[in-house]
This record gives sequence, structure tokens and C-alpha cells, in this order.
Amino acid sequence: MNKYVGRFAPSPTGDLHLGSLVCALASYLDARAHRGKWLIRIEDIDPPREPAGAAEKVLSTLKLFGFEPDDDVIFQSHRYHLYEGALERLKQLNYVYGCSCTRREIAMAAKQQGLRENVYPGTCRSGANKPARSWRFKVPAGRFSFHDRYYGVLSQNVEDEVGDFVLKRADGFWAYQLAVVVDDGEQGINNIVRGADLLDNTPRQILLQQALSLPHPTYMHIPLVLAEDGKKLSKQNGATELNTREPDKEILRAWKHLGFEEFKFQTPEEFLKKAIPVWSSSKYFRP
Ligand code: GLU
Repeated sequence: MNKYVGRFAPSPTGDLHLGSLVCALASYLDARAHRGKWLIRIEDIDPPREPAGAAEKVLSTLKLFGFEPDDDVIFQSHRYHLYEGALERLKQLNYVYGCSCTRREIAMAAKQQGLRENVYPGTCRSGANKPARSWRFKVPAGRFSFHDRYYGVLSQNVEDEVGDFVLKRADGFWAYQLAVVVDDGEQGINNIVRGADLLDNTPRQILLQQALSLPHPTYMHIPLVLAEDGKKLSKQNGATELNTREPDKEILRAWKHLGFEEFKFQTPEEFLKKAIPVWSSSKYFRP
């Protein structure tokens, strides 16, 4: 069996919050419990949404919580050439096409065709009638199933629920779907543990792995941390911020969100060490 390689891949669009700490903790413990490698990858491919210094702050916060990666941290902003190479390959394989649609045109066409909001109606699949602005992946028809270690078997009809999706954006930046698949493949990531907000992105990523002949990692999505009002954590409903002056308290908060009982420890490093065997015998540790 291949050695387990996992990762935590935050987008530095702001400070690390409780939800991201839960995902970092889950991915770290799962890798350690499998005697695997754990890597950090900064997904900084969306400069318009990244405040200056956010990546450095995320990294220093992770360090404060005792998370030590097994290799150098990777920055997606240094890897555009890999995404370009993958797009070229997909072009050669006839998996992509240039799209000239604006957001407004997409919304109007989707409405006319009775499609759900945000579903791309395939307007440019048979040729764009204006200069292309973005590049889209041709989604094959049919339902796609995958196994999630936490949620079991899930399926999605990507064509109906998403449509042909963007790989390179109209503003020239790379789309998350392509970058994540290329990097997971290139870094040999074979186990992905991340937040359940990305569950419905997974079929798209599996389709891209297939198109690029990359191996499929296993997936485990961790239930989202909800605010007290039952909604997803956000700046508006508070509770998102981490108090970096009290890392012990905050890591316990993340641990309890995962459903575990608290225990005594002196430092975040000691906490992580003691948490690994608890994780190994928990509901999260299953094939
Ligand atoms: N960068 C993504 C985020 O912060 C996570 C990517 C992933 O884990 O696949 O939401």
C-alpha cells in the first residue's frame, strides 16, 4: 500500500477561523493516525480576495497551534506553469473550450432554459461567437458516485447541477478546481480530509483527475462547524475568530466540535500527541 499523504490547503482570504482549525486538526490527526505525511499548501490563486499578509498569518497561526508539516509549504501562486501545462493537455484531449459568456449572459440563458441558478447552460460548447474570456471543462453526461469515508456513497449529476465549469477565469486567474487537482496529483496526495462545504466540488475534481489520468485520492469530509444559530460560521454571526493568545483553549474548542471529550495537556504539541490515539479509535477512522 502507498504511504498515506495528506494535506491542509487553506485559501488565505482572511485569518484562520474555527472552521478551518477544525479541518486542519482533522487532516493532521488522520495523517498521523495513519503514520502518514502531512503537508500544508497555501491556495493563494485569487489575489483580489487575499488581504496582504494573510498567508503569513495563516502559517504563523498553524505553527502556534503546534502543526508542523513534513515538507516545505507550497504556494499555488508559484505554480501557475503547472496549471498552464494541465490546461494545454486538456485542450489537446479536447476536454476544454473557450467561453465568451459574461455572468449576466449566463444567468439569462440559464433562466430561459429553466436551469438552476449558477448552472452553465453550455452556450459556448459548440463555439463561442465572441472572443473567449474563460476556459471551461466539458462535463460528461451522467451521474458520478464516489465514496466518502464519513458520509458514505454520494452521487451528483455534474452536467445538470453545475454544467461545464471554469478552469481559467475571465480575469486570467486559475480556478480552484484545476489548481487543487493538479497539485494533489503532483504532490502525491492520496488522502483528502477537508470541510463538508467542499463535498459537492468533489465530483468535479474526480472528473478532472480522470481527464488528466491522475490517481483518485480517498476523501473524508468533516461536518461543518455551525454557529449557535445553526448557520454556517461567518463574520456576521461571530464565533469565527480564533483567539491566538489562547491556543490551548481554541484547539480544545475545535476538538469538541469534532465530538470529542476534553483531556488535560500543557501545550498544543502535547495536545496533538495525545489526540492521535483517540482519533484512531473514533468514528472518523474508518476506510
Ligand atoms: N483552499 C480551499 C479552502 O480553503 C480548500 C481546498 C481543499 O481542501 O480541497 O476552502
